[in-house]
Amino acid sequence: MRKPFVAGNWKMNLTKAEAVALASGLAAKAGAFGSTEVGVIPAFVHIDCVAAAVKGSPVGVGAQDMYFEKGGAFTGEVCASMLTDLAVKYVLVGHSERRHVIGETDALLNKKLHAVINAGLVAILCVGEKIEERKANKTFDVCKTQLVEGLKGLDKSKAGQLVIAYEPVWAIGTGLNATKEQAQEVHAFIRGELAKIFDAATAAGIRIQYGGSVKASNAAELMSQPDVDGALVGGASLKVDEFMGIITAAAAAKK
Ligand code: PEP
Repeated sequence: MRKPFVAGNWKMNLTKAEAVALASGLAAKAGAFGSTEVGVIPAFVHIDCVAAAVKGSPVGVGAQDMYFEKGGAFTGEVCASMLTDLAVKYVLVGHSERRHVIGETDALLNKKLHAVINAGLVAILCVGEKIEERKANKTFDVCKTQLVEGLKGLDKSKAGQLVIAYEPVWAIGTGLNATKEQAQEVHAFIRGELAKIFDAATAAGIRIQYGGSVKASNAAELMSQPDVDGALVGGASLKVDEFMGIITAAAAAKK
């Protein structure tokens, strides 16, 4: 049984005081997490104070990105040792805003994924199609390429440090979530591709989160799907009660 995993991607939002208040508010409700693993992913500049605010609670802290080099003359970048130093557990790799706004390529993301995993961190590799790709029936092709290229060279012995987030780009921040059937169809496809890349037993153990306009009100039906193992949440992770609704829905669905 895969442990459900719900992570909040706070993106470029919140003041330091707001981030600490949100983290503390969430940690205070840890008793209601049930079986769900919970992570928060603040902006780099808030990681330290958020980690302090959740210390001693089961809330894990993640980073939204990481550079693949170990250190040196890379102005503006952040390396793995800087994150492990702050007790970071997870790193997002290839969030759609990194792919499509910043222009990160599969080749760059593959280097980042290896750096994250080699540092002992958990990589959350995000994949998903744009609306024009879905309309052109290219959803599976796009996800497959992003998986195959992103995971190139990764040994199955490292699969315990891998989470996949299926995030259709057209659903992110739009209020238009995938239906439970659309999510399940792509999650099952992704698990099949993971079985080809690794093997069936390894694929069966990898958690696949759904992301894209998940809210407390739609979480239960999305989480009810057999291959949906949790959620990567943007907007709805910025309010404790809304995020808690998603966390408890995941725990209830995966009992
Ligand atoms: C995200 O940023 O990964 C995301 C899924 O955002 P939202 O929940 O706001 O659609």
